[in-house]
Amino acid sequence: MQTIYTDLLVVGAGLAGERAAVEAADAGFSAICLSLVPARRSHSSAAQGGMQASLGNSVMGEGDGPDVHFEDTVKGSDWGCDQEVARMFADTAPIEMRRLAHWGVPWNRVVPGKSIYYKGGKQFEKVEKEDKEGLIMARSFGGTAKWRTCYTSDGTGHAVMCTMDNRCAQAGVEVHDKTEAISLIQDGDTCYGVVARCLRTGELRTYLAKATMIAAGGFGRIYPNTTNAVICDGGAHTMCVASGVVPMGNMEAVQFHPTGIVPTDILVTEGCRGDGGTLLDVDEKRFMHEYEPEKAELASRDVVARWMTHHMREGHGVKSPYGEHLWLDIRHLGAEHITGKLREVYEICTSFLGINPIHQLIPVRPTHHYSMGGVRTNKDGAAYGLKGLFAAGEAACWDMHGFNRLGGNSLAETVVAGGIIGKKIAEFLQGCETVFKTDLVSDEVKKQQSRIDALVNCTSGSENVYKVRAAMQDALAKGANIFRTQEGLEECVATLQDTLIRSRNVGLRSNGKGVNPELAAALKLEGQVKMALMVGYGALQRTESRGSHNREDFPARNDRDWLVRTLAYWKSESDTLPTLEYEPATEVVELPPGDRGYGKSEIISADSKKGK
Ligand SMILES: Cc1cc2nc3c(=O)[nH]c(=O)nc-3n(C[C@H](O)[C@H](O)[C@H](O)COP(=O)(O)OP(=O)(O)OC[C@H]3O[C@@H](n4cnc5c(N)ncnc54)[C@H](O)[C@@H]3O)c2cc1C
Repeated sequence: MQTIYTDLLVVGAGLAGERAAVEAADAGFSAICLSLVPARRSHSSAAQGGMQASLGNSVMGEGDGPDVHFEDTVKGSDWGCDQEVARMFADTAPIEMRRLAHWGVPWNRVVPGKSIYYKGGKQFEKVEKEDKEGLIMARSFGGTAKWRTCYTSDGTGHAVMCTMDNRCAQAGVEVHDKTEAISLIQDGDTCYGVVARCLRTGELRTYLAKATMIAAGGFGRIYPNTTNAVICDGGAHTMCVASGVVPMGNMEAVQFHPTGIVPTDILVTEGCRGDGGTLLDVDEKRFMHEYEPEKAELASRDVVARWMTHHMREGHGVKSPYGEHLWLDIRHLGAEHITGKLREVYEICTSFLGINPIHQLIPVRPTHHYSMGGVRTNKDGAAYGLKGLFAAGEAACWDMHGFNRLGGNSLAETVVAGGIIGKKIAEFLQGCETVFKTDLVSDEVKKQQSRIDALVNCTSGSENVYKVRAAMQDALAKGANIFRTQEGLEECVATLQDTLIRSRNVGLRSNGKGVNPELAAALKLEGQVKMALMVGYGALQRTESRGSHNREDFPARNDRDWLVRTLAYWKSESDTLPTLEYEPATEVVELPPGDRGYGKSEIISADSKKGK
């Protein structure tokens, strides 16, 4: 069996992972990124709309700056975020955007002179300034006070991912693709790397590293309907859960995006609404301005997704063989805009729906999109619980998003966090001597080999992996969705507890150990069900509504009792529920809790007396 040594091992070759690897490599350390797919196919590539940084170059961004971005981010998080992290992020994002330009990202640029733009379906005129010609342009996104989202048409993720991957090659970072990390090598105190499986041959390999980083993206595939690709399955998170000592932060904070297309749930970017697209109901009437007079379609995602669902519940949805939906209307933006700045949306609509968005309405409804929760880290990106383990990007709970992430803040987080945490890792590696314990490594490899053999030989049972996975997804969709109740969550948790037992009795129909999706799915199934329980049980315990976590039976945001972050552990294999602990949401309060200015909600103030 092959053993590969490196200073930094990054599980993930998306934007966060590659950005951190560049930082370590530039400081003179060896760095390897693992990926399920070629790096440029990482899910960062799918990001369309853009990334937020308060450059303020556009006339519509005048007056913007890190303070305004910070404020929008904290309000967006419904005061659930770590404000020190949000501050670091807002201050650093403009620097990272300019760095990306220097590395080669072809940003859309300011073109001086008159141009028209749309808001709420109405046309307006703006005049971009001569002295800003050629600077990085921005578009409008939800929950922001200014136009702040830097973009390259609607292929931002693709453009930035290709640039970053080139930069990795230049810095000497190795990418080992078609390689899946399946377990951490750790002794309860320190992490020494991972056992990985080659997805071509099925062979196991060990990667031994002084520092290991989880940058494996989101885990949307634990839900049945999601904008996330099949590679966003949380496999790498399950390794941390299995350690018993690394907690997941705020797993109940799950984002639903307003505009997944029906029926495939592929995303059409928030840039559609940012550029002036509107949401219409069955009568082809706008409705968002009735619920949110000021922000309308551009309130934060949690708010828009809730009102859309409410509007459909009130009988205004469009009935279809695939369930109810609403319409997204971008027709008024015109052919040039749609085939230029929204060309991926144009292609998605023509290729996957067979409709032409220049002339036709796009069927949309809220669908799972993003996980604010993930591997809990401190401000330096060090994971709680294990020395030498770090996390960044969507996989992590760093935690700048709290209970709702603003559109455009995730892609920006990948490069900001990747840069900051990559630097911290380089400092950690300076003078770091690690002794790799042979027994620990060989025991972990044997353990993983026996898991694989047991699955292939059906030693523990013959439950069908896909049926068990579907049961998990179904339970989350029913109980831990946009609107949540005690009854629904109790049922969800009970079903997931049964599903956990079933996940331990899975046996494969196939027997191939190499390219075998059934085996890959089976290896992470039990861990996924544990993560689903962290979502459901965390949501059941949190008796308030904050950001995307909406309890119909507890509609108020309760700053008195719940201004805290959930830490979920799976402490013992015999447990049937995660152990939940709580820590303050933020140590430093730069912006005291208040009203978000959108998404009407009752607030129980932090200084109100208990029992009132
Ligand atoms: C359709 C869509 C559009 C979006 N648009 C925007 C947008 O416009 N603006 C914005 O801010 N955000 C957007 N987002 C969110 C944003 O794109 C992601 O949150 C972000 O790109 C995640 O980057 P990452 O580096 O953390 O992970 P990813 O880019 O997802 O990379 C994860 C990496 O981990 C690897 N990996 C996973 N598991 C393993 C394993 N077990 N072993 C080895 N490797 C593994 C994968 O192969 C991949 O290389 C969008 C998301 C979606 C789904």
